[in-house]
Order: sequence, then structure tokens, then C-alpha cells
Amino acid sequence: MASKPQYKAWFESVAHPGERYELDEIVYTDRDGGLLQVVHDMDELRKTPADDWKALFEARDHTSEWPYGSGVWGKKEWVLPCVQPDNVVSMFEGHSNLFWAERYGKQLGLEALWIKLCGNTHTGSFKDLGMTALVSMVKEMRMRGKPVRAVACASTGDTSAALSAYAASAGIPAIVFLPRGKISLAQLIQPVANGAIVFALDTDFDGCMEIVKRVAEKDGIYLANSMNSLRIEGQKTVGIEIVQQSEWRVPDWIVIPGGNLGNVSALAKGLDMLVDLGLVTKRPRIVCAQAANANPLYRAYQRGFETFEPIAAQPTLASAIQIGNPVSYEKAVDAIQRYDGVVEEATEAELAEAAAEADRTGLFNCPHTGVALAATKKLVARGEIGPQDHVVVISTAHGLKFVDFKVKYHEMRLEGLIPEHPNPAIELPADYDTVRTRMLREIELRFRE
Ligand SMILES: *Cc1c(COP(=O)(O)O)cnc(C)c1O
Repeated sequence: MASKPQYKAWFESVAHPGERYELDEIVYTDRDGGLLQVVHDMDELRKTPADDWKALFEARDHTSEWPYGSGVWGKKEWVLPCVQPDNVVSMFEGHSNLFWAERYGKQLGLEALWIKLCGNTHTGSFKDLGMTALVSMVKEMRMRGKPVRAVACASTGDTSAALSAYAASAGIPAIVFLPRGKISLAQLIQPVANGAIVFALDTDFDGCMEIVKRVAEKDGIYLANSMNSLRIEGQKTVGIEIVQQSEWRVPDWIVIPGGNLGNVSALAKGLDMLVDLGLVTKRPRIVCAQAANANPLYRAYQRGFETFEPIAAQPTLASAIQIGNPVSYEKAVDAIQRYDGVVEEATEAELAEAAAEADRTGLFNCPHTGVALAATKKLVARGEIGPQDHVVVISTAHGLKFVDFKVKYHEMRLEGLIPEHPNPAIELPADYDTVRTRMLREIELRFRE
């Protein structure tokens, strides 16, 4: 009789395979300060045939069975097998919609443009996928008697929102460090509302990161930034979910915006497992899209990845990716190289217009999604992405978290940018004839064939 499978995972140095740590150890980097990654016992996972994994994941989809109804925990064996179900901290994240953006795709000249709306989730960004994994592991560690008093992160807004929500759900104190005045109001109010200890510091993201790294050196403060590779384990489900939602067909291209570059690495890591465990045979090509004002990966790509130079990121509307010294640079380069990838950039005008154009077809894009859409447009325009290609753009946050950006765009108040699709509200006296005349003129103007 077959024995019960013993799925196992551990931290392992990326640079020095063999340097291993248990997942409940308080460790973020290897002996040289390099990145760790979570490695799974693939031989054990391989004992289950590919079709059985598919059937299992499908059977768990959207059930209320704790914790498997979550898009992340429905793949628990591939994510963090060692966490006891009782210690999982979940708000049934994942399962975000993947849909055919027919009208916008046709405008770009694409038959099959699909959008994966990762912002349709608990705190409005894909960061939930990673935080459910990390906070669950922290709860597990506390149950095992590890000295973790609180969790902390530096953030461009969405990480702190997700950390605060999941920590609050578990009753674990959270501390967040934000660059003062550089995040949206919606992003600031989330950790405030969830009861986190919120510090707004006079610096940028990279400056907050320096502080939180020191804070996490002692006092039982556990670091929740994406340098902590536990988050990647949750985030990697996005690629698996895209393929599952596509009836196990692999798209030709997946486009994703990148800042600290944890998410593009996570995307590749999830797809790797699908290939390694035989659920699919093909790999998509990955496009990582950066804001031109914060483009260290793009610059390195232009140099064939021969050298990397951190930069001082300039302000960008895509504030969540205003990062000049990305933590996961090496992992991202590995992902781009193995997935025949492309790195593209988008200027402020390009990202704002792409977001606005797509909004006109019923979407409601955050500026980071605007970066990904602008990159997609460029690749289509130069023929790299073909008209018949199956393209999935990862939308990383909900547009409602970035209404300041949209309001300014439509009121034509964005600095240095004259919008091409402004649609400010029309203010008129409450007079029927004036309203009707104007209304008919607007219909005529806008919906001319
Ligand atoms: C965090 C974030 C990103 C960038 O992800 P990285 O892992 O830092 O590359 C992109 N978009 C949004 C909305 C985010 O919150």
C-alpha cells in the first residue's frame, strides 16, 4: 500500500544550492547576503500524475472547504505544505477573473488579448497572494514557539495594505513604513484602518527599505518584504491559475509590470512547476514592463544583462513600481532568460494613455496595468507579438486604489501631460433644453461610426 505523501519544502540559497534552512527559521538571506528561495521536494510531488493534480485543483476551486477554496491554498502542496490548515490565514484570495478583452484587443490588433485582474481581491492588489502565504507561515511559527512578535514591511502602498489586513485577521501586530506623500490615499488608509502601526517617512521606497531591514534585525520583528521568499510561494500561483483558467492551455505571452521584480520571478516559478510536474509542456514568453522613470531592469536588458546598476527612481504615476534597486533582480533576469523574455518600458504619457484607452473599453486600470498595456502596444506595433497570439496581461491592482491618478487625468491636471482622452463631467445648469442640446451633441461627437 502506498504511504501517505510527505510533501516538503525548505529555504535554499539561490547562489549556493545546498545551503538550506527550515521554513520556520527566521532567515531572509544566505550567508553572503544573497537571496533565498523556497525549494520543494519535487520527487515527492512527481509521484502524483499530472492529471490527478489537475483534477484535484479543479475539484477544490471555489469550494468552501477550509483552506482549499482559496486560489492559493487550493494548491497548498505546491505552496507551503508544512503549514497546518488551522494556521492558514486566508480571505479566499486568488480566483481573480481572467477575461477576453475583446474590444481593446481589437483596437491593438489582437484577436486574443486576455486580462488577468489580480486587483479583484481582498485588498485590491496581487500582494494578497503572497501575504496569505507569509502570514500563515508566521502564525505557524508562533504556534511552534518561535520568537516572532510582529511583522513589518516597507512598501509603495499595496504590500502594506495586504500585510496589515492579513496580520489583523490573524491578530498579529503589523508595522509598515511608507514613503510620505508618495502613495495613494486609498493605499494609506488601508493599513490605518486595519490597525497597523503606520510610519510615513520622509524618503522614498528604497529609504524605507533600509530602515525596515535594520528594524528586522532584532526585537522579534519579522520582515515581510519580497526579499522574504515565502511571499513568492503564494504569488507564483498566478501563472498556475492563468493556465488552469485557460483550460490548461498555455498562452503565447504573459505581460507583467515589474518594480521590485518579485512578481515576475514568482510568475516564472509557478510556470516552472507546471512544466516540471508535467501538467503542460509549453512555456509562454514573458514580458516585464517597467516605467521609464524607474527602469533599472530595462537598462540592464539593453546591455544584455551584462551589468546591473541601481538607479535613483524618478517619480512615476505607477507609484508601486517606483523602485531603483530591485531586490529580486537576479531572479528576474533568470526568469526573463528562461522564458525567452522581453523587457519593455513606458513613459508617463504612454502609460496614462494606455490605461485611459483601455478604460474606454470598459476596463478600469491602475497605472501599473497601464505600463503593461503600453508595453503590449509597443510589442504589437513592432510585430514581435503577432495578431493571432494568445496574450495575457496581468493587471496588478484595482483601478479604484488609484483614483487620484484618474481624476487628475480627466480633469487635465497631470503635470507635463496633455491627455488624449479626457472625459471630465459636464457642469450645466439644471435646464432641460440646455442639457438635451448638449447631450445630443456629445452622442454625435463620441459615437460616430
Ligand atoms: C507591487 C506591485 C507591482 C510590482 O511588483 P514587484 O514584485 O515589486 O515587481 C506592480 N503593480 C502593483 C499594483 C503592485 O502593487
